[in-house]
Amino acid sequence: MTTNLLDFDLDGLAVFCERLGEKRFRATQLFRWIHQKGVANFDEMTDLAKSLREKIKVSCSVTALTVISQHESQDGTIKWLFDVGAGNAVEAVFIPETDRGTLCVSSQAGCAVGCRFCSTGHQGFSRNLSTAEIIAQLWFAEHFLRKKLGTSERVISNVVMMGMGEPLQNYAALIPALRTMLDDHGYGLSRRRVTVSTSGVVPMMERLGVDCPVALAVSLHAPNDALRDHLVPLNKKYPLSELMHACHQYLTHAPRDFVTFEYCMLDGVNDTQEHAQQLIHLVQQDGRGTSWCKFNLIPFNPFPASGLRRSPHAAVQAFAARLNAASIVTTVRKTRGDDIDAACGQLAGDVMDRTDAKNRMEKLRDQGRRVIPVISDSGIRG
Ligand code: SAH
Ligand code: SF4
Repeated sequence: MTTNLLDFDLDGLAVFCERLGEKRFRATQLFRWIHQKGVANFDEMTDLAKSLREKIKVSCSVTALTVISQHESQDGTIKWLFDVGAGNAVEAVFIPETDRGTLCVSSQAGCAVGCRFCSTGHQGFSRNLSTAEIIAQLWFAEHFLRKKLGTSERVISNVVMMGMGEPLQNYAALIPALRTMLDDHGYGLSRRRVTVSTSGVVPMMERLGVDCPVALAVSLHAPNDALRDHLVPLNKKYPLSELMHACHQYLTHAPRDFVTFEYCMLDGVNDTQEHAQQLIHLVQQDGRGTSWCKFNLIPFNPFPASGLRRSPHAAVQAFAARLNAASIVTTVRKTRGDDIDAACGQLAGDVMDRTDAKNRMEKLRDQGRRVIPVISDSGIRG
C-alpha cells in the first residue's frame, strides 16, 4: 500500500518528509511539482535529489481519480464524472466566465442530509471522500485545462464546494484540501474565491471560521423552521436561530463581509411573497440590517422522484424584486451548459444504488449523452 501524496497539505507533507529523514524545503519542492506543475511521475521531478526520488518511489504515489466521462457544453462548461470505487462516482464541473474560471467540487459520494429537492440527498450517503479525492478533482481539472488551452498560467481562479455531498460533514478531509487550494505553493487561490457551501452544520461552521476561513454559502431554502425542517432535515438538529447566530459568528473570521444564502425556488412551496417577507424579517432580526448577507435564487432542477416543480420565471423575478426592495442584494442563478448533462448532483446520483456496479457504470457512460442543464452562479463565484 503506497501513500498518496495528494492526501497532504503542505504541513502534512513536511511531517511526512521529516519521517523519511528529509528537510521541509524538500516537501515544498515536491508539493510544487505535484500541484503547480501537475507532475505525478517522480522521475520528472528533476531538481529533487535522486536518492529522495528513489526513496519516495518505493512507498508513495500521486494517484488521481479515473475519469468515467467528460462532457463539454457549447458554452465551454465541462463536466467530469470520476470513479471513486465500489460503484460510486462523483462529479466536478468547470464553468468558464470572462473574468474567472470556477470549478464546482464534490466532497462526498452521496449525502446524508437528505434534502427533498436534491437528487444526491434522495440517493442517500455512501461515503466520505478522502482529501486526495477532493483535491484530485482540482488537480486533474486545472492541469487538463492548461494543456487544452496551451497555457502554463492558472485557469481555475475559483472553487465552490457545491458538488455532491455536505462538505462540513466531511470536515477532517475538507480542511487539508482547502489549505492546498489556498497555499501559494499549491493553487494559490484567494480565500475570497474559495466557497464552502453548507446546509447548516452549525458546530462545523464555527470551526471552519477558526481553522480555515473562506467564503461561506448557506443553503437556506426556507424562511421558517416548520418549512425548513421539511426541506432540509438537518434543520431539526440546528434550527434557524442557531444557524443565523453561526452565520454572524462566521463573519467575524470570514474573508468577505457577507454570507451568501442559497435558496432553491420550488413552485408553491417556498416561493410566495409571504415567504419573501418572512425572509426579510429573518435576516433583520436582532437589528442587524440587511448588508451582512446576499441571496442567490436557484431555479430548481427537477428530477422525477422529488415530486417538486421549478417556480415559474415570474415568481422568481417577483421574489427577487421583493428582497431587493428591502435592500437585500439578490441574484438569480443563470443556467449554463444546456447541451450536456451537467446539473450538479443529478447524474452522479444515478450510481449510488449499491448493487451491480459494473452495469451501472455502463449505464452512466450512456447517460452522459442525456440533456440536463447545468447551473452556474454569478452571485457566488465572484
Ligand atoms: N451540501 C451542500 C453543498 C452541495 S449542494 C449544500 O447543500 O449547500 C449545492 C447547492 O445545490 C445547494 O445550494 C443545493 O441546495 C443546490 N441544489 C441541490 N439540488 C438542487 C436541485 N435539484 N436544483 C437546484 N439546486 C439544487
Ligand atoms: Fe446534501 Fe446539499 Fe443535497 Fe442537501 S442539498 S442533500 S446537503 S448535497
